[in-house]
Amino acid sequence: MDPALEPLYDLVLQRNPGEVEFHQAVLEVMDSLGAVVRKHPAYMDERVIARLCEPERQIIFRVPWVDDKGKIEIHRGFRVEFNSALGPYKGGLRFHPSVLLGTVKFLGFEQIFKNALTGLPIGGGKGGSDFDPKGRSDMEIMRFCQSFMTELYRHIGEYTDVPAGDIGVGGREIGYLFGQYKRITNRYESAVLTGKGLGWGGSMVRREATGFGLVYFVEEMLRTKGSSFDGQRVVVSGSGNVATYAIDKVHQLGGKVIACSDSSGYVVDEKGIDVALLKDVKEVRRERIKAYAEERGAQYVEGGSIWDVPCSVALPCATQNELDEDGALALVKHGVVAVGEGANMPTTPEAVRTLRDAGVMFAPGKAANAGGVATSALEMQQNASRDSWSFEHTEARLAEIMRGIHERCAATAEEYDVPGNYVLGANAAAFVQVADAMIAQGV
Ligand code: GLU
Repeated sequence: MDPALEPLYDLVLQRNPGEVEFHQAVLEVMDSLGAVVRKHPAYMDERVIARLCEPERQIIFRVPWVDDKGKIEIHRGFRVEFNSALGPYKGGLRFHPSVLLGTVKFLGFEQIFKNALTGLPIGGGKGGSDFDPKGRSDMEIMRFCQSFMTELYRHIGEYTDVPAGDIGVGGREIGYLFGQYKRITNRYESAVLTGKGLGWGGSMVRREATGFGLVYFVEEMLRTKGSSFDGQRVVVSGSGNVATYAIDKVHQLGGKVIACSDSSGYVVDEKGIDVALLKDVKEVRRERIKAYAEERGAQYVEGGSIWDVPCSVALPCATQNELDEDGALALVKHGVVAVGEGANMPTTPEAVRTLRDAGVMFAPGKAANAGGVATSALEMQQNASRDSWSFEHTEARLAEIMRGIHERCAATAEEYDVPGNYVLGANAAAFVQVADAMIAQGV
């Protein structure tokens, strides 16, 4: 890190003790900003980095609810409204037992830069709860969502803060959350949440957007080396919304995805993952990936590391820090040429270094997985104009946005003499946009 930035990072460590994922996310950005602040000293004079690292508002609340057995359960809810320089706070809600304030802060911090890269008018925020939806009945999910929104509603709004889904929050949860917001406020405020159902204000392509966008981005990256997805052997970790539609798009572009996973294990399917069966198992029946392997007659590996499966392109689409140094070494050994992050910060800093040292092309999540939130912004646009666009039109907009993000990251990396370094390109391009807006808007 540039010595000028070290005191700023030390302050973040001091002020946010124990929040290791937040520290990791801040460090990664600060590592990219040395050349930027040398070129534009105003960013130091205006203390923009220190301001950026402190969320504008952090909300923590109790979520009491009654389970199917009549027992009262208590969970903790969070919403971190990180930065509103470019637009209303925007970012998903994560329901997962691992969620702590530090988790939400790391995700909210990433979201500021990701949202800036889309070029659309959205600020950065994130929320969630330590509630584990796994094994819960539909009615339990509904009661939990209603209780969560009973507090959250007072902090959000079309012009204030617009949540969406993330891990553990999909179309069903957004439905229950929207219903409760409407009930409490007596307002049909469509653009208060994104990821809504297609019949009631949702956007075409929103469900597919993160996975599709990731594959468009990696396709652009491969194109810079005269390559494409055609004929690539691809491994995708995860089997949720991002993974499923990444697999779908890789197949449309002529590649073959031979492995995917869940938190219990991974499946290797040399015929290529059957997306229809995967959707049925995961989205409709809400079963484990093991059931896919059994029905398909594919190999299932309990535990283990999916990165041991030889591939030419790897797309980590599960969760943070899932691809560590050992995983990266295994990928390099098998000749991987490109890695694209579908999840938020799935690659550890050591793994990123290992991949870069081996000359592997690397697409950071804040650029490569921005298609989801970009399409959320398109959903807000449609809601604001009381319109709805066709699948083809929306997908064309998404593809154009992803090409634009790739172009900006690549051009910024060139500008700072590190061609092909998408991490620096993404961080520097996004930072400059947010920082300029913050300076213009005063302290
Ligand atoms: N949770 C997604 C993300 O990490 C989408 C957020 C949104 O659509 O607001 O970007």
